[in-house]
Amino acid sequence: MEYKTLRDGVRIPMLGLGTYKAGGREGERVVARAAELGYRLFDTAAMYGNEDAVGRGIRASGIKREDFFVVTKLSHKSYGRAEAAVAESLDRLGFGYIDLMLLHWPFGDYYAAWRVLESFKKKGVIKSIGVSNFDPARLIDLINYNELPPSVDQIETHLLCRRSAERKWMDKYGVAHMGYAPLGHGVKNSMLMLPEVRRAAAKYGVTEAQIALRCQVQSGVIVIPKTVREERLRENLDVFGFEIDKDDMESLAKLDKNEPFIGTPDAPEKAEAALLW
Ligand code: NDP
Repeated sequence: MEYKTLRDGVRIPMLGLGTYKAGGREGERVVARAAELGYRLFDTAAMYGNEDAVGRGIRASGIKREDFFVVTKLSHKSYGRAEAAVAESLDRLGFGYIDLMLLHWPFGDYYAAWRVLESFKKKGVIKSIGVSNFDPARLIDLINYNELPPSVDQIETHLLCRRSAERKWMDKYGVAHMGYAPLGHGVKNSMLMLPEVRRAAAKYGVTEAQIALRCQVQSGVIVIPKTVREERLRENLDVFGFEIDKDDMESLAKLDKNEPFIGTPDAPEKAEAALLW
């Protein structure tokens, strides 16, 4: 596992397990198995309804809590009662602290919620605080008018949507780039079938998914692929033993169409849809 040091000095693994739609007994089993295989970061959210399963899975692994990096997210539905919502997340996870807590979406009263996260960070109950789905303008706004800056922006990023424009601003303001849906959200006929990706996979003797993940890790993006399958848990973790050369990185960069599958947070349709979540 490789690590990055966030602006507040907290060390974060470059790769972790996404857990969206992996809950209950299955979620617990997958998290415990992933931990045994070497995963050290788990990404959950209040909205996913599986913080409890992630906490149980980590405990079931028998590995000590301090070896793990737990990321969870405050739902925008709870921004008005953020203090209670953080306490509920801690309770569901069953841990005394959270490594990284993110504002899930930039909707509603996210300023109030951010100040609550700041207070938990000062108390040491949340080690690092960040945001998710923030476009650069909102990121800069949040940084300028609050005491503590976010350490991370978790935003959809994959081969078809590299977020180079957003990344420029994240780098300028010292915010680490965490990419969600790194395998394209499991969309059928996805980028994993593209000839450039297949060619690279054959050249390096790895799978298409490993090319997709390695390319991002090599670009400094923290990735959180999700799977519930044993063979894919192993495959997705095994991306630190090879390096994609400069020419192939350039050829893969040409696949970027700035096309998210889940949608950009600054789209009006997304803001409208958020009312229904
Ligand atoms: P991913 O890009 O991680 O893709 C997951 C899909 O790819 C699943 O269908 C999985 O199927 C399949 N898959 C996994 N490994 C492989 C492989 N090696 N080869 C081929 N297919 C594979 O999508 P997600 O949307 O789940 O994103 C990852 C994580 O990011 C989420 O789980 C969540 O934690 C986070 N996220 C955060 C969001 C936010 O708003 N902050 C929004 C969306 C996601 P199977 O399980 O059957 O293997």
